[in-house]
Parts: sequence; C-alpha cells; structure tokens
Amino acid sequence: MNLEKKGILVVVSGFSGSGKGTIMKELLKKYPEQYALSISATTRQPREGETDGVEYFFKETKEFEQMITDGELLEYAQYVDNYYGTPKAYVEKQLADGKDVILEIEIQGALKVKKQFPQTLLLFVTPPSAEILKERLIGRGTEDMEIINKRLSRACEEAEGIENYDYLVINDDLDICVEEVHQMIRNEHLTIARN
Ligand code: 5GP
Repeated sequence: MNLEKKGILVVVSGFSGSGKGTIMKELLKKYPEQYALSISATTRQPREGETDGVEYFFKETKEFEQMITDGELLEYAQYVDNYYGTPKAYVEKQLADGKDVILEIEIQGALKVKKQFPQTLLLFVTPPSAEILKERLIGRGTEDMEIINKRLSRACEEAEGIENYDYLVINDDLDICVEEVHQMIRNEHLTIARN
C-alpha cells in the first residue's frame, strides 16, 4: 500500500446554473487544508460582483492567445463564444504541496485533463430537473435570453458526454452534496493507495 499523500485533480463539470460553484465553495470552506481551487482565465466579460483574480482572470482575446502560445495553460476550450483555460503553474504547485486541486471546467477541458493525468476524478453536477436548471439560469439575471438559450443548448450537448464521468452528483441539498463529493474524493485516494 502506498501511504504517501499526493494531491489529485478533481474535475467538476456541470450545466451552467447547476450550482457546482456553490458546492465547491462550501467544500473549500469546510476542508481548506485538503483542497485548492484552480482559478481559470477567460475572455468572457465579468458578471456583476465578479472580481479579476477571484472568480476568473479576465483576459483580452490577444492575451489569452498569448498564454496558449507560451504553453501556460494545462487545457483550454471555447464555450459559448469565449475562451476558458486552466493556468498550469498554480495547479502544479498545489499538487506538489499535496493538495487536491478542484478544476471547475467543461467537458472538452475535462477530457484533455484526464488524458494528461489519468488519475483525475471526474464529477458531473446536475440540478434535480431541467425545469429547475432553466429557472436558475433565468433567476440569476446575469445573462440575456439569447445567451441563456445558447447555454441550455450547450447543456444538452454536454449531457451526451456524461458517461465519461466517474460520478453524477445531483444537487438538491447543498450540505449532503458537499459531504458526498468529499467522500468520493476520499474513496479515490483509497483506491489509488491500494494500487
Ligand atoms: P461561466 O461563464 O458560466 O463562468 O462558465 C462557462 C463554462 O466554462 C462552465 O461550464 C465552466 O465550468 C467552464 N469553464 C470555466 N473555466 C474553465 C476552464 O479553465 N477550462 C474549461 N475547459 N472550461 C472552463
């Protein structure tokens, strides 16, 4: 049995509006010693209340493309007219420090990460129903209907890739979800240690 505690990557995908961000925030609040959250770079405009360097590193398209050229990203993808990508340096540092690193990214990026790091745990978060998803997207009030519809159609595409994920997390009760995700990650560590 390998007892050395090494960090693993935990990819969390889910429909825009699934509540995955809230679950991860709670997980980090509850277990700050164990987890680190990767902050992505994106070319999308900040939403009201979002701060550069907190939710995302907000970039111009040219700056983002320079990061790609310079090999600074672990993965990147396009999502509804914008680039999104994971800065590599932070992730590598946290893994080396023994932390599990949470990446909140969409499916194309998830599959690229899994290829580079086969021990990555892939979680997919979904709201209890399609109606609740739509209500949350509209209720959030941060996007107009055209973007909401694009995001919903992207959600349908993403649902087709769900079989690539290790676990489906149904987000109906926040506290239960947080504990479920924590257990899933613990189980993954145990499986790795046994092999
Ligand atoms: P939002 O604009 O709602 O913040 O994010 C849109 C989508 O982009 C979400 O599915 C989110 O998980 C995904 N995303 C955020 N950061 C990254 C990233 O670094 N890489 C990839 N591939 N997807 C990301």
